[in-house]
Amino acid sequence: MKLITICIPMYNESDNILALHKELTKLADFYDTRYKFEFLFINDGSLDDSLDIVRQIAKDDKRINFVDLSRNFGKELAMLAGFDHAKGDAVITMDADLQHPPEIIPSMITEWENGYDDVYGKRIARKGESFFKKLGSKVYYKILGMFSKVPVLPAVGDFRLLDRKCVNSIIRLRESQRYTKSMYMWIGFEKKEVQFTSNERYSGKTKWRLKHLIKLAVNGMISDSTKPLHFSFYSGLIISLISFIYMIYIFVKTIVTGSSTPGFPTLTILILFLSGTQLIFLGVMGEYIGKIYTEVKNRPPYLIQEYFDQIEDDYEDIT
Ligand code: UDP
Ligand code: MG
Repeated sequence: MKLITICIPMYNESDNILALHKELTKLADFYDTRYKFEFLFINDGSLDDSLDIVRQIAKDDKRINFVDLSRNFGKELAMLAGFDHAKGDAVITMDADLQHPPEIIPSMITEWENGYDDVYGKRIARKGESFFKKLGSKVYYKILGMFSKVPVLPAVGDFRLLDRKCVNSIIRLRESQRYTKSMYMWIGFEKKEVQFTSNERYSGKTKWRLKHLIKLAVNGMISDSTKPLHFSFYSGLIISLISFIYMIYIFVKTIVTGSSTPGFPTLTILILFLSGTQLIFLGVMGEYIGKIYTEVKNRPPYLIQEYFDQIEDDYEDIT
């Protein structure tokens, strides 16, 4: 019998876990003896009692495993920990807050049985998110598309089913500054879309702050592409060319008319403009150097406090 892992990163989700577990139980009951399930919770340094609740329900539900990270490492790394510990022939990643509707999972499993390796949920509508968040995400995907090497699909997130071979590929990519969305595209394999409408959060507030979103956005643009560097280089070239022509113009003009003082505003504008662009491009390079610095340290991407495993290991042989 095939084993399917449902992998759930959680950070302060104590009010959602029981509701989520109920849904997952329904799902497993629906498949009855056709599949085995593993419910793998990754506790990403929650400050509330999320882990205690999981520990409690794990006593009665032998399908539950969990990994307790040593602190909050962020969702991207929590997911990596999930992929590292998942035992399933397929792994489904979903949020703990029920924004990813579990009723979609059966259609993902069907597509997997049809031979697809990477069945991703595409959000066709979202409930309960502000106009600005929606607009922001639209604009972001447009800009990201211009910069990244492999196209990243808009409105496609981390609600997806991955076949074992995709999981094995993802866990070979060990960088600690991850943008998993572009990794899914990078690994390739047979992909299939399944549409869903995202729900409102069941309980609690989103963990994302603007600063996290900006960090993730920057990561997305430069993690898989050197296009921003090329962009800086070529715009630098064009700006210098224009400045050079302008310089000759000023030079000739001064020689012909003999007066130079009226040029003061132009000078100020030029200096400000040029130093501004230089700072931006230095910043772009700085971003890359910062990433290189973090990666060359070659630290483990996350650390584990405890791995709780109660699923018989003969299932590991299948994988
Ligand atoms: N999450 C996590 N670590 C974090 C932040 C979030 O594991 O540092 C988990 C969170 O518990 C949830 C999922 O990632 O299961 C998505 O988080 P959230 O709902 O806050 O994000 P949004 O749905 O608003 O994008
Ligand atoms: Mg959410």
